[in-house]
Amino acid sequence: MRQSNLPPHRPAAGRRIAGHAQEDHIPDPYQLTQKLSDRTVCRQCGAVYRRGRWQWAPRPEEASDALCSACRRINDKFPAGIVTFHGRFGRQQAEEIARLARHQEEAEKREHPLNRIISIDEGAQGIVIHTTDIHLPRRIGEAGKRAFHGTLDEQFEEGGYFVRVDWRA
Ligand SMILES: [Zn+2]
Repeated sequence: MRQSNLPPHRPAAGRRIAGHAQEDHIPDPYQLTQKLSDRTVCRQCGAVYRRGRWQWAPRPEEASDALCSACRRINDKFPAGIVTFHGRFGRQQAEEIARLARHQEEAEKREHPLNRIISIDEGAQGIVIHTTDIHLPRRIGEAGKRAFHGTLDEQFEEGGYFVRVDWRA
């Protein structure tokens, strides 16, 4: 079910600025479109909305149900972040990159339930990872740099909730 009612906007559009922008002040439009009461439970992932944010918690009694913004982005295949590992990788290295990304996701989403991987795909450019948020991409990129060296480039969309992180050897 599509619940989002967002302006026509693709992640590829819009002006970009490089570097560590003021991304913490930028709200995810997917969250702004929802008005939620306390004790709302996401029917897809089980996250609980309490005191103004989604968290991992036991299901409250008399919960009302909804879809959290991460699950809505996953269902819509609408990423807030894209990490690309540019290059041609052998099977083993591709698996290593996917494992590294999943490991970062596990650590990140423990504290931040809405920060998740949507997909990991191999394309002509290399390995492309879509995320539901703008924080996990940097984390994955930096883990990649630690493991494989190379360079990282990070570009935030100005005034928007979108980031693109590129790793190159
Ligand atoms: Zn959810």
